[in-house]
Amino acid sequence: MEELLIYINGEFVPKSEAKISVFDHGFLYGDGVFEGIRAYNGKVFRLYEHLDRLYDCAKVIDLEIPLTKEEFAQAILETLRVNKLRDAYIRPIVTRGIGDLGLDPRKCGRPNVIIIAQPWDRLYGDLYEKGLKAVTVAVRRNAIDSLPPNIKSLNYLNNILAKIEANVKGGDEAIFLDHNGYVSEGSGDNIFIVKKKVVYTPPTINNLKGITREVVIEILEEENIPFKETHLSLFDLYSADEVFVTGTAAEIAPVTVIDGRKIGDGKPGELTKFLMKKFREKTEKEGVPIYE
Ligand SMILES: *Cc1c(COP(=O)(O)O)cnc(C)c1O
Repeated sequence: MEELLIYINGEFVPKSEAKISVFDHGFLYGDGVFEGIRAYNGKVFRLYEHLDRLYDCAKVIDLEIPLTKEEFAQAILETLRVNKLRDAYIRPIVTRGIGDLGLDPRKCGRPNVIIIAQPWDRLYGDLYEKGLKAVTVAVRRNAIDSLPPNIKSLNYLNNILAKIEANVKGGDEAIFLDHNGYVSEGSGDNIFIVKKKVVYTPPTINNLKGITREVVIEILEEENIPFKETHLSLFDLYSADEVFVTGTAAEIAPVTVIDGRKIGDGKPGELTKFLMKKFREKTEKEGVPIYE
């Protein structure tokens, strides 16, 4: 197999030679933003929605991306083309750039723009049929007034602490609560519950504004399935008929056990399976073509 080519600041570099400086503040401090995007069947799914979020997040951390949105879109498509990819996971990264050992971003040079595109299967392997065992974790989701959970930043220690706790407790995924005890999200995916045929998800004030979450809400509207955005508690989670998580890497994944409580009958729910099917259909149909 030919070596993967990585986009770094407008050039394509073989994976084994793709490097950035140890003085980049993305490395030193997690100062930067990223995206996770998927291409299906020769088309990039929701490309401009992901770019909108990338630029919004960059703006919030006062980071100026040295490309226009359209240039960025073309760079992503070109990265897929040079690697001859039709189905891929795409990871654009924008770092603060090279600075000194202090924190001050004003001392950093040009932001580094990196795009990795590679084949990558769905995150949870064989658990889409069996369902995930999730555990709630003691570590709380970053408070909205300290590090807003809406920023898809390179600083993911909050999420990694949750993942470590889930690993220790034998869970496939962590579920975060916020500082008020309301349900927030998974370590890298949003969460939904189904109760008496109504679908619920928390508002994005305490979690990441997921694009897969938006797609699920779109499907619910198209299919006239009752839906409500509302705060949820542990009570709601444990007593739900169905629970599922959503994200670009995970797609839609059923959760069948939470903290040892069986969710519904302990099997992936009917509505969850229906949404997984509708989501798959959308990914096969829609998207920005890579090769036309
Ligand atoms: C990326 C991410 C999600 C999912 O967002 P998508 O746009 O659906 O991929 C959810 N939560 C966190 C913490 C994330 O980083």
